[in-house]
Amino acid sequence: MSAILNAPSLSPSSVPSKPALVGMSRAELGDALGTVGVPEGQRKMRVAQLWHWLYVRGATDFDAMTNVAKDLRARLAGQFVIGRPEIVTEQISEDGTRKWLFRFPSRGAGRPVEIETVYIPEEGRGTLCISSQVGCTLSCTFCHTGTQKLVRNLTSEEIVGQLMLARDRLGDHPGQVAREGAAVPSTGRLVSNIVMMGMGEPLYNFDNVKQALAIAGDGDGIGLSRRRITLSTSGVVPMIPRTGEEMGVMLAISLHAVTDETRDRLVPLNKKYPIAELLAACRAYPGLSNARRITFEYVMLKGVNDSLADARQLVKLLSGIPAKINLIPFNPWPGTDYECSDWEQIERFADVVNRAGYASPIRTPRGRDILAACGQLKSESERIRIRERMAMEAMIAGAD
Ligand code: SAH
Ligand code: SF4
Repeated sequence: MSAILNAPSLSPSSVPSKPALVGMSRAELGDALGTVGVPEGQRKMRVAQLWHWLYVRGATDFDAMTNVAKDLRARLAGQFVIGRPEIVTEQISEDGTRKWLFRFPSRGAGRPVEIETVYIPEEGRGTLCISSQVGCTLSCTFCHTGTQKLVRNLTSEEIVGQLMLARDRLGDHPGQVAREGAAVPSTGRLVSNIVMMGMGEPLYNFDNVKQALAIAGDGDGIGLSRRRITLSTSGVVPMIPRTGEEMGVMLAISLHAVTDETRDRLVPLNKKYPIAELLAACRAYPGLSNARRITFEYVMLKGVNDSLADARQLVKLLSGIPAKINLIPFNPWPGTDYECSDWEQIERFADVVNRAGYASPIRTPRGRDILAACGQLKSESERIRIRERMAMEAMIAGAD
């Protein structure tokens, strides 16, 4: 069984909070220091200090920043917060997968929002699956997230905040014990890889995702190599060149079908950017090489896209593109009409792809018992909302 460690809080934070430092670019941090009276000539040095405390040490309290003068710490604390989401729930699956429901307090006019983040430990690495939006506007028919109504882009703070809180919970800030000035070591990390594969379409939130990933990759802070950061898109073709040029991260494409007719049905965005255009953008992806392949994700849907003819067509379509093919067993969710392909069929499909020379790992479903697998995100938060409402109603009834 999975474990729920934190009871859901019944009173969402409604008081707008101060701006957060986490998620700011260096220039924004410099401006923030300016607002608390740090003279321009000192800002660069102060930014470097803050960056170290925020991202190497994982500081969650201004008082921990011992080499920052006490009065400056107080002025910062008066105007800013460091920036962490609240944990609504933390679930740990039988297989070690963790899923958090995080709540971000409202900053300024926005309402508090809740999103899910998943950590998947594997032999020799640990991958954090990060959300880029609350819900998704794209309505892929096999994806649960696409049925969620509320949609807004997550800010850079909210994207980096998922990484920071996951690292807090896992005890993954090696700088906490390192000497001052020591960089985060690149080995032995619990979060060694990140994938933008949670809720939302990251290329519909390009600027915030770009800023957040720049922070995750910054060599004076968290310092994750760009090769360990993968962004998955359902195929927002016009943004693909900029993703390579400006973010330099690994690309994953949610292909899922080999004809426009089927893909139009599964991924409606295909009507705007059909397969040929999508694959042309992939062929031209900056930095593409045999060492930096594009991952093509292919969800296995019984009787829809899983025939051996589909497998052969897939291999044909991808010929000439340095590619990995990731077969994802469909993860069902309440109310879906799709079924996962039979296991033997997935293996036969994988054989065709393997024989054509592609590595095609079948993605083992992780964390299914806590609905943390691909495309299952959302349901838990909705269920929690129902539980909260019932608890609230019981409280109100009890008070009568
Ligand atoms: N929006 C982006 C990234 C998030 S989805 C995208 O679509 O690429 C991460 C992956 O999970 C995508 O390949 C998505 O198509 C897939 N997925 C969605 N719902 C799924 C489900 N129910 N079962 C298996 N995979 C699913
Ligand atoms: Fe959105 Fe990706 Fe789900 Fe499609 S698969 S609805 S793009 S999250």
